[in-house]
Amino acid sequence: MDLKEQSHRRFNPLTDEWVLVSPHRTQRPWLGAIEKLSHVARPAYDPTCYLCPGNSRACGVHNPQYQSTFVFENDFAALKKNAPAARIDVQDKGLIVAEGESGICRVMCFSPRHDLTLSSMEQPGIEEVVRTWTSQFTELGAASGISHVQIFENRGEMMGASNPHPHCQIWATSSVPQAPAHELSAQQKYLQKHGNCLLCDYLKLEENEKSRIVVSNEGFVVLVPFWAVWPFEVLVCSRRHMGTLPEFKGREASQLAAILKQIISTYDRVFEVAFPYSMGFHQSPAKGDHPEWHFHAHFYPPLLRSSTVRKFMVGFEMLGTPQRDITPELAAEKLRSLVTDKK
Ligand SMILES: [Zn+2]
Ligand SMILES: [Zn+2]
Ligand SMILES: [Zn+2]
Repeated sequence: MDLKEQSHRRFNPLTDEWVLVSPHRTQRPWLGAIEKLSHVARPAYDPTCYLCPGNSRACGVHNPQYQSTFVFENDFAALKKNAPAARIDVQDKGLIVAEGESGICRVMCFSPRHDLTLSSMEQPGIEEVVRTWTSQFTELGAASGISHVQIFENRGEMMGASNPHPHCQIWATSSVPQAPAHELSAQQKYLQKHGNCLLCDYLKLEENEKSRIVVSNEGFVVLVPFWAVWPFEVLVCSRRHMGTLPEFKGREASQLAAILKQIISTYDRVFEVAFPYSMGFHQSPAKGDHPEWHFHAHFYPPLLRSSTVRKFMVGFEMLGTPQRDITPELAAEKLRSLVTDKK
């Protein structure tokens, strides 16, 4: 089978799902909508931004004159701290089922500067961001009733980011959410069956093949996973087996900061635009021992062919299985060609 030419499907061992790959379709004409992106240069301080230092938020609270990172509880939190831990199951048939979900939702500004992003911030500033992620994980993970801490960033209007001020969200939940729950189960099964970690073994295979690796340093590897769904999706994997940010040692925090800056600025060069994406860290559940879990981050960017042509998950993808045209190997080659300061 020629993975470069023939249609095939690829297995995602982390989620137990499949993706359809149709490399022969990359030449078909595009008839989709064109979206206009805003290219307006942003000021360092925006008096109307609710995240800038000193400004007031919807609830009337004034942000402090913060100098580096700044964390606060989301004024429009999707989760409340004290939802009842009840369960409904009508007639015990497992058909109409609901469970109480409580949690803590925070917003974290990366910098007081309205005009920066993780790709344009300097290394020390990004290291401070990593330190804040780490302390937030430690604090929220230790809170009673919290099982999982999800750190994620939505970047760009296309991803629904309501404010361009560089920030992320941190949602700590009473249950382990769906995507990490699937990965937890897959990693547990793999460890039981093979006696090794799934992602440690996968990284070894990728380092043999090299075709999907975009960039790496001593601590981390960025690659387009074999099973990637989004055109320029990447997986950021720690080289060392560990489950969470607080387990970082030595220079790993600064290595993570460096690789994040590298991959995001590489993204920005693909279509010469601040690349929209959703990214987030997948860390082990907050409670209990998790020898199976391997620390990683996912980047899911929607752009396909230009700064305005995005991939949609519709039709067969909604009703059948996700599908892609450009192969993960071609995407990795494109990204690799745009990495500067290659190590
Ligand atoms: Zn701002
Ligand atoms: Zn591992
Ligand atoms: Zn994951």
